[in-house]
Amino acid sequence: MPTLFELPPLKYAFNALEPVIDAMTMEIHHDKHHAAYVTNLNKALESAPELQGKPIEWLLQNITQVPESIRTAVRNNGGGHHNHSLFWDWIAPGGSKQPKGRLEKEINASFGSLDTFIEKFSAAATTRFGSGWAWLVLDGDKKLQVYSTANQDSPLMDGHKPLLGLDVWEHAYYLKYQNRRPEYVKNFWSIVNWDVVGRLFDQAQG
Ligand code: MN
Repeated sequence: MPTLFELPPLKYAFNALEPVIDAMTMEIHHDKHHAAYVTNLNKALESAPELQGKPIEWLLQNITQVPESIRTAVRNNGGGHHNHSLFWDWIAPGGSKQPKGRLEKEINASFGSLDTFIEKFSAAATTRFGSGWAWLVLDGDKKLQVYSTANQDSPLMDGHKPLLGLDVWEHAYYLKYQNRRPEYVKNFWSIVNWDVVGRLFDQAQG
């Protein structure tokens, strides 16, 4: 049996992020949406035994080497699996509520201030038309960048390392916020676990 991808368990209770994200949204988002990405990714890889056992990061970084017949499925479902695996840790309870150390310095150097960064990221999140993600990444030149991507596209496909991402698909907020995406984006900042972002930043320095 090839190594199949598995849904990572949520490390905290569904209601742990209330009132920012309600328990039902967390349950459906993790147990149904994320689970479906994992199932569909595994299904797509059935026809490509040479890719089975490759880490998810490799599949996304080398998406152009994935056979064309399953490339879109791997891009969408592999991106979905990786993005969500990170997302559950980014919005985890606990941790520091603002960046520290090298990451704090780099955010100030790149954007002027934490507030300016938050404004820029929030604008990327609110203006992404349709479904997608807003990102803080470390790019190929080891510079911080803020942008958004469509659907489940991962910054890894461009050789960038995702440091912080916000899911702006309606499934991430609609039960509580309906059409009020800006309110969801604003409240997001109160549940970001900056220790996780800082750790990813340090790792991405290589
Ligand atoms: Mn999602």
